[in-house]
Amino acid sequence: MDLLSPQVPTPLTALTDDRLLEAGVKIFIKRDDLIHPFVSGNKWRKLKYNLLDARSKGYSSLLTFGGAFSNHLYAVAAAGNALGMRTVGIVRGEDHSRKETDTLRFCRKQGMEINYVSRQEYKLRHDTEYLKKVSYTFDHSYIIPEGGTTTLALQGVGEMVTETEKQINVKPDYYAVAAGTGGTAAGILSMGSNVLAVSALKGGGFLRNDIDALLDGKSATGDLELFTDYHFGGYARWNSELIEFIKNFNGMHGIQLEQVYTGKMMYGLFDLIGKQHFPRGTTIVAVHTGGLQGLLPELRSY
Ligand SMILES: *Cc1c(COP(=O)(O)O)cnc(C)c1O
Repeated sequence: MDLLSPQVPTPLTALTDDRLLEAGVKIFIKRDDLIHPFVSGNKWRKLKYNLLDARSKGYSSLLTFGGAFSNHLYAVAAAGNALGMRTVGIVRGEDHSRKETDTLRFCRKQGMEINYVSRQEYKLRHDTEYLKKVSYTFDHSYIIPEGGTTTLALQGVGEMVTETEKQINVKPDYYAVAAGTGGTAAGILSMGSNVLAVSALKGGGFLRNDIDALLDGKSATGDLELFTDYHFGGYARWNSELIEFIKNFNGMHGIQLEQVYTGKMMYGLFDLIGKQHFPRGTTIVAVHTGGLQGLLPELRSY
């Protein structure tokens, strides 16, 4: 189904870089950042089957969760608007409405109703009773969990893998992704492909359990290598070294990365390559999961 008219297949581009030649490693970039102007990257892949499910069950309202900088909220607001569905965003933290982030302003303009809840209440976001209650409060909304990460999301991410392997005709040794909830990593693993996951948050060790839980019952999954030391201080934190890396990368390859997810993933990948972590002949598909609406203004190259 042509849900939201995605630009698929997204391009797959080989990186030409002396550091890679030296290490004997090939990197392809899967340009999922180009899939849709607002529902970008892995958010489109993860939402696809959730949206189809909501629609086929006759829901007219979507409710989801996120922080004030959430790419997922942004994607749901845009998708709901395009599909003519009501959207409700439950946002963590005190009322930001006086000093609204660009993300939340965009969501509101797309028609999303923003509801701020305390950190305490936000912790209940996976609690079944709580979810029943909020769904009821908001017009029997279809609930999409934080990050859009559900078992239905794995199916959409799996299509990215199939698409990629048609484009290169082989199974790469690894897919590299930035991880927030681990849903994207789990989707790739569910296809039997190996994943290098770079945690965008501090203390990302929990991701292994969460990913295992998402893969529950799936057989023949790929191997996960989880890297938890490239968070640059934590979620949505960065330093000048990361910023310089992103600028250089953009200058060399003409591909824009951002500082919350994809910049950390690519930094980690090149750091590992520099440390000869991968044997010669390794092929890696680095997934550009999008998120460019959250780009720091100083990184904008146009
Ligand atoms: C949300 C997001 C991620 C994290 O994906 P998960 O499936 O939650 O691990 C990675 N990259 C970008 C650009 C994102 O917006």
